[in-house]
Amino acid sequence: MIKIKAFGGYSKIGKSMTAIEVDNEIVITDMGADIEKLVDFEEDKNYISLHDAEALIDNGVIPNDRDFFEENGKKVKAIALTHGHLDHIWAVPFLAAKYKCPIFATPFTIKVIEHLMKNFKQKNLRLINLNTGSKYKLSEHLTLEFVNITHSIPNSAISVLHTKYGAIVYANDWKLDDTPTLGKKPDYERLEQISKEGVHSLILDSTNVDQDGYTFSESIVRTMLEDVIKKTLDNKTIFITTFSSHIARIKNIVEISRKLNRQVMIFGRSMSMYIKAAIDTKTIEKAKFPDIAMRKEQINNLLKYVRDRPGKYVVICTGHQGEKGAFLDKLVTGQYDYKLGEDDAVIFSSRVIPTPLNTANRSMLQKALDDLNVNVADNVHVSGHASKNEHKLMLKMLRPKHYIPSHGGMEKISVGIELAKELGYELNKTSHILLDGQELIFE
Ligand SMILES: [Zn+2]
Repeated sequence: MIKIKAFGGYSKIGKSMTAIEVDNEIVITDMGADIEKLVDFEEDKNYISLHDAEALIDNGVIPNDRDFFEENGKKVKAIALTHGHLDHIWAVPFLAAKYKCPIFATPFTIKVIEHLMKNFKQKNLRLINLNTGSKYKLSEHLTLEFVNITHSIPNSAISVLHTKYGAIVYANDWKLDDTPTLGKKPDYERLEQISKEGVHSLILDSTNVDQDGYTFSESIVRTMLEDVIKKTLDNKTIFITTFSSHIARIKNIVEISRKLNRQVMIFGRSMSMYIKAAIDTKTIEKAKFPDIAMRKEQINNLLKYVRDRPGKYVVICTGHQGEKGAFLDKLVTGQYDYKLGEDDAVIFSSRVIPTPLNTANRSMLQKALDDLNVNVADNVHVSGHASKNEHKLMLKMLRPKHYIPSHGGMEKISVGIELAKELGYELNKTSHILLDGQELIFE
C-alpha cells in the first residue's frame, strides 16, 4: 500500500511538505515555510525562536504535522530535502527533530540548513550528505536516491524512493536546462534508467506548467545581462538585484562586470548566507568573489568609493521584490549615505513573485526610482521552473503509472491534468488532484 499525504505545496506555492508511506514506513520530502506568512509573522515579532514552533503552525507559516506525528511519527524513516529554497526547508529546525530520523540533503542544501539551525539554536538534527547520483538504503524495503536536476539554486535534486511497487519520484522544483552556467545538466541517463525500472508515481512541480513552450536556459540570462550592462552608459553606476540563492546568476554578474571593467560589490544579509554555503561547498571559488557587506557602517564606507568613481562599479544587492528592510528599499528611502539619481541604473534580474504584498512593495519601489530619475531595466531573468513542453518531456521520459501535479493550486494543477490527458492519463485513475491536507491511497 502506498499513501501520499500533502501537507503543503499543493494548494499554493510554499510550505512544501509531503509524506510518502509505503507499507508502514514513511519518508517525508521537504519541510518548508509559507514565505508570505513568514514575512507577516516576522513583522509582528522581530525575533523567532524554537519556542515559536506552535505559533508558526497556528499562523500557517509552517506545515501542521501535529496529528500526523501523533499517529505516524514512529514510522518516519527519513526526511529528504530536495533543495535549499526556504519554501522547501525553512521549517526543518522547528519540525524535524521530534521524528528522530536522519535528514538527507545535498551538500549545498546541508550548509543552508546548518545556517538555519545555528540561527534558531537547533542542535538535535542528524544531517546526512547525499550527493546527486547516490543512493542510501533506508530499510530492507526502501532506498532513497537523489538525481541531479536543474533549478535556480545549486545542487538541486529529484528525490526518488525505490519501493517494491516501483519508484516514487518527487520533482519539486525543476526545469530542464541543458546549458546551465553552474553545475551539471539534468541526469537524463539516470532518469531514463529509472523509467525502465518502473515508476509508480511522479509528483511534479507545476509552477510554470501553464507557460507555453520551454523555459529558457540560464545561459540566455547571462547573455541578457551582458547586453544590458554593456548598454548602460559608461558613466552610470549599476545596481543589480537578484535572488540571493541564485548563485549561478550572481556568479555570472560578477564575471560579466569584471569582463566589462567594472569592480563588483555585494551587499545584503541573505546574499551572505547563500554565498557562504556556495563557498563552503566549493560550488564557487572564494578568491573570485568579493566580500559581502552587511552592516550599515560597512556598506556606507564602500558606497563612498562608488560615489567618488561613478560608472566604475556594479553593486549586487538585495531588494528585488521591493521588500522592506532590504538594501534597495533602504537606499531609495535615504537610509544610506548615497543619493540615487539620474547617473545610476538599477537592473532587476528577477521578476515579481505575484503576492499582493510583493506587488505593492515593488510598485512603491518603482515609483521611488522613477521620482529619482534612475534608469531601470526590469525582468532580466528566466524562471527556474519548467514550462509546458518540459512537463511533456518529463512525463514521456519517466512514464509514471500515476501523475500528481503539485504547486500553484487548482489553477496550475488543472493545466497539468489536461496536459497529461493528451498523453493518455485519465483523471482519478492515473492522474490525480492532490491538495494540501489531502491524501492519495494506492492499494
Ligand atoms: Zn525552488
